[in-house]
Amino acid sequence: MLERLKTDILILGCGGAGLFAALHAHQANPALQVTIASKGLLGKCGCTRMVQGGYNVALHPGDSLERHFMDTIEGGGWLPHQEMAWTLVSKAVERVHELENEIGCFFDRNPDGTLHGKAFAGQTFDRTVHKGDLTGIEIINRLMEQVRARPIQRLEEHRAVALIPARDGKSLAGVLLVDIANGLLRLVVAKAVLLATGGGPTMYRYHTPSGDKSMDGLAMALRAGLPLRDMEMVQFHPTGLLAGPDTRMTGTVLEEGLRGAGGQLLNGALERFMGNYDARGERATRDVVARAIYAEIRAGRTTPHGGVYIKMGHLGPANVRRQFKGMVERCADCGFDLASGLVEVVPTAHYIMGGLLCRVDTSTELAGLFVAGEDSGGAHGANRLGGNGVANSTVFGGIAGDAMAQFAADTPHRPPDEAAIGAEMARAQHPFRQPAGDINRLRERLLALMWEDVGVLRDALGLRRALGKLATLEEELLSTGVPDGERAFNLTWHDWLNLRSLLEISKVIALAALKRDNSRGAHYREDYPEQGDLAGSTFTVARQQNGRLEVMEEPVEFTIVKPGSSILNSQPDPAP
Ligand SMILES: Cc1cc2nc3c(=O)[nH]c(=O)nc-3n(C[C@H](O)[C@H](O)[C@H](O)COP(=O)(O)OP(=O)(O)OC[C@H]3O[C@@H](n4cnc5c(N)ncnc54)[C@H](O)[C@@H]3O)c2cc1C
Repeated sequence: MLERLKTDILILGCGGAGLFAALHAHQANPALQVTIASKGLLGKCGCTRMVQGGYNVALHPGDSLERHFMDTIEGGGWLPHQEMAWTLVSKAVERVHELENEIGCFFDRNPDGTLHGKAFAGQTFDRTVHKGDLTGIEIINRLMEQVRARPIQRLEEHRAVALIPARDGKSLAGVLLVDIANGLLRLVVAKAVLLATGGGPTMYRYHTPSGDKSMDGLAMALRAGLPLRDMEMVQFHPTGLLAGPDTRMTGTVLEEGLRGAGGQLLNGALERFMGNYDARGERATRDVVARAIYAEIRAGRTTPHGGVYIKMGHLGPANVRRQFKGMVERCADCGFDLASGLVEVVPTAHYIMGGLLCRVDTSTELAGLFVAGEDSGGAHGANRLGGNGVANSTVFGGIAGDAMAQFAADTPHRPPDEAAIGAEMARAQHPFRQPAGDINRLRERLLALMWEDVGVLRDALGLRRALGKLATLEEELLSTGVPDGERAFNLTWHDWLNLRSLLEISKVIALAALKRDNSRGAHYREDYPEQGDLAGSTFTVARQQNGRLEVMEEPVEFTIVKPGSSILNSQPDPAP
């Protein structure tokens, strides 16, 4: 049974990218029908809601777009697509004004009424605008209210499972979805589709993103033969909470501000170790601290659960309780006393810098398909600055809304390829035709192998081992089914589909990591520890065609600034 629907613009995902796209598309052309389909509930899913720290924007006297741009390029190991990075920093200013003046967000202010900017690692200016440490809730709640106030259609708890090509073979016709609430399949035909499912590296033993994220968007794009760039670039946040294997709290972030304020990291022998790795100690950047912690763990100097400790008590328990109320409460929920005791932490997979290759206007090589947010690649290169994630989703989400409205006004619906629909319906229901088995056991093997061999420290031997294990796991998954009983809210079915997407993208991450024989940003090869020639930098592009996955290298184009130079030099001195 397949139900067919038609809309002008279909948006997959309702995080910052999806909601901004919907509002912009509606504003650009209110006559178009805009539909949002999301795996979770509006306002309750995705990672934008989880944003704690804030939003990077160069608004303050003394800061500049050029400074934010240079921080982004240098932080990204000279791999970012420079036009995208420039668009990110310049449009972020417009977007923050829009968030405050049109969407209704209130961010924290200085006594003189200007927006308060806090310090974030890797940046030369305190430019992270925020609402306490719950910035994402403010942004998503206000965006949700604005979407609800407009005639924007919503398909909540609808999981996209495949991009359906048009009969012409050259463009996209629509998307196949599962209605999670009743298990029925729906085809939504649309003139323009936005992929904004938010990536989410949840294939690692420790991870931070929301449970509804399992790389579905990138897996669908890969299967459609589209190119994914920078897929080896997975960011690990150094201090995920480590509270044992039986709680979802394990892996959640203990914010960077703890180290910034003077928090100390101790190994299992209670020795402070960061000084052995970097002169900046605990205040070194995320990638450096994550690697140091991982090295201590691998050397066996661990806490009871296999991590290291963070210690704050020397800063005064009352002070810690006041400054980090949310973090103190989160730790207390898991039996830890952050204010005066020791808390176990471990690096945790946080964000994927890689994503679908696209143009600055968010269009892709498949006519009718657009991409924004964490599903898109290019803006961050080898590393994402804290605070550039939500800026990226909202900036490019808005751009996508404008571009799709234009595209949909000029382009008719395209008839879908019926054979492709049939094949994708069969694919989505594949697990019902296999003998039921233990999906969770397979998932745990995936999390372990990605953590051990494709994680914080990598080498050719481990990456090849991982690729072999991934192939075996995929075979096992395809012959492991789920009981064909009730399809309404059949979460075992969705666990199976999640695992398939995660496995497909894990292979891409491992293969791209094997291809990059140098160490940049978040990607560290122990067998190739040097960063390589910056001027000759390349980025990886993975593509799957006729069932064969290949990774190529493309040269980075330094269209704005070349390695060794800075656009700051050509700017007047910042205002005092
Ligand atoms: C704990 C945490 C803290 C963070 N803090 C910061 C911070 O301080 N500053 C910052 O800049 N960034 C931060 N980030 C990163 C930031 O959250 C992301 O960069 C950004 O929000 C991603 O936005 P998005 O719209 O691309 O995706 P999301 O907001 O994650 O939304 C993804 C959407 O896609 C839907 N979806 C997924 N799969 C499917 C499917 N198959 N079909 C249909 N819908 C689907 C989901 O349900 C969801 O609606 C943080 C991330 C985490 C996890």
